[in-house]
Amino acid sequence: MDHLRRSKVVNLLKSKEIGKEVLVKGWVRTKRGNKNINFIALNDGSVIHHIQVVVEVANFDENLLKQITTGSSIAVTGTLVESMGQGQSVEVQAKTIELYGSADPETYPLQKKGHTLEFLREIAHLRPRTNTFGAVLRIRHALSYAIHKYFNDNGFYYLHSPIITGSDAEGAGEMFRVSTLDAKNPPLTTDGEVNYDMDFFGKETNLTVSGQLEAELGALALSLVYTFGPTFRAENSNTPRHLAEFWMIEPEMAFYDIHDNMDLAEDFLKFLIQYVLDHCMDDLEFLNKMYDNELIKRLRHVVSDTFERLSYTEAIEILKASGQKFEFPVDWGSDLQAEHERYLVEKYFNRPVMLTDYPKEIKAFYMKQNDDGKTVRGLDVLFPRIGEIIGGSQREENFDQLLKRIKELDVPEGDIWWYLDTRRFGTVPHSGFGLGFERLILFVTGMSNIRDVIPFPRTPKNAEF
Ligand code: ATP
Ligand code: MN
Repeated sequence: MDHLRRSKVVNLLKSKEIGKEVLVKGWVRTKRGNKNINFIALNDGSVIHHIQVVVEVANFDENLLKQITTGSSIAVTGTLVESMGQGQSVEVQAKTIELYGSADPETYPLQKKGHTLEFLREIAHLRPRTNTFGAVLRIRHALSYAIHKYFNDNGFYYLHSPIITGSDAEGAGEMFRVSTLDAKNPPLTTDGEVNYDMDFFGKETNLTVSGQLEAELGALALSLVYTFGPTFRAENSNTPRHLAEFWMIEPEMAFYDIHDNMDLAEDFLKFLIQYVLDHCMDDLEFLNKMYDNELIKRLRHVVSDTFERLSYTEAIEILKASGQKFEFPVDWGSDLQAEHERYLVEKYFNRPVMLTDYPKEIKAFYMKQNDDGKTVRGLDVLFPRIGEIIGGSQREENFDQLLKRIKELDVPEGDIWWYLDTRRFGTVPHSGFGLGFERLILFVTGMSNIRDVIPFPRTPKNAEF
């Protein structure tokens, strides 16, 4: 037997080698049949489909077959044969079965099908074994690969921005402190404050909320860079769109203005969605059937249509003229709420929308200031069902303008002297954006809660698995 190499289910199901001896390994999804013949649906995670193993009961030890229940793990050798049954072209006629591990039907949490997503969150250690999470995790993988492929093929360099940061200037949200000080008895200054000079890094440090500022340093040397890593926000927002730990993709491009930035954002998003349409159709079809029967149609629509581009001011005019009753008022100067974004995307334009030129008061200090003195060259990309999927801007490259804004907003200048140096020495126009990876996966999978598109979600009061 040991000359046989294990075949993955994904390859067996495509195989034309009828009559061949095969070895397949995996987890039992179901076993059914009668006293003469058993049918085992076996899955190894390589594909959403199972391979059917046909077992002639008389040829096997009764005790062994009894232990082969849902969730148990087995290795099967046998002959690949054409399947008479519906839904599969081939199956394995079992010759030997080895049991790796049983799964007590009384206690195995996935014994029955059809659990709610809420229940599955409580067993996040086992949910990868469900069809849904298999599909989501394979798509997540495909998207990660596609992101690196896109940038590599387009001349971008992958820049590893730090996870521990000494600056809290990004201003993108509340931060998680990183410290080795004794929480019960920290060293104090003469003023009675915690003395971070005594901490590991000799200063206060936090988990990063964004790799942007460091990505800018990279772009101002290598021209085109991107980061792709975890970011952390201690915001207490318990929404289906927010995680405390999420992954972000942040390209940063020297010599790009806001229009180049929009062209890249649109091309990048379309490439990623098309990649999944081209490579993950089995999983998409499953999700389309189970969760969202408009999913594939929506993905095709987004890749084939151009994104709408307009200014924040134009968007406000459209919202005001809409005659819609919104929960939050529409006012020039205030941030758009999800309901406003979704009206623009889903009702008014029926396509993704790229909004630019926001009031400077609601955007970060580093965004390029327009000549009107009121707006900055920010960019948000809004998607159906999701709302904001990308936030970005052309950056302020003018030293004096940037410093003025830093002072107006009380950004701790001492923390980002190095950032200002890039405007002192060889500054150039440049742009970038941040794509929330889980928001993208939400869109592509049709799932509705961000906790269901990351293997181990981190949210307030939840870090069990
Ligand atoms: P929002 O207004 O939705 O809270 P934001 O304006 O704080 O987002 P940015 O700082 O612009 O977000 O971050 C860039 C992108 O990162 C967002 O467009 C979004 O896709 C994603 N993102 C931001 N915060 C979170 C979060 N807590 N969980 C998951 N994704 C997030
Ligand atoms: Mn934003």
